[in-house]
Amino acid sequence: MRPWVTPETISVDSTKRSREPEVVELRPAYAWDCPECGRGHFFSALVPEYSADEAEDLLDEYDIEPGDGGYFVSVPDEVECSDCGAKFPTELYRAIGPKEGDDQ
Ligand SMILES: [Zn+2]
Repeated sequence: MRPWVTPETISVDSTKRSREPEVVELRPAYAWDCPECGRGHFFSALVPEYSADEAEDLLDEYDIEPGDGGYFVSVPDEVECSDCGAKFPTELYRAIGPKEGDDQ
């Protein structure tokens, strides 16, 4: 396979040549849509820091094998729409597996 950009077409900006590419940090977030007014809401989620003992307790509590990767995220049990004022309890989105309250 050949590159389709030939050396003659490459423009090199000498101010950017020696710099490392800037990296941005992606943070977890949560979103929800208000059932009353239909507005969407989007927030950054908190990622609490834990001691090794607290992390071990959380892994036990949620039946997670150490080394499975990931992190715990703090999200609200209830949300209030900033547009219409309606309040709703929350549940976590699950792409796989039953939702809370589903019969198994
Ligand atoms: Zn609303």
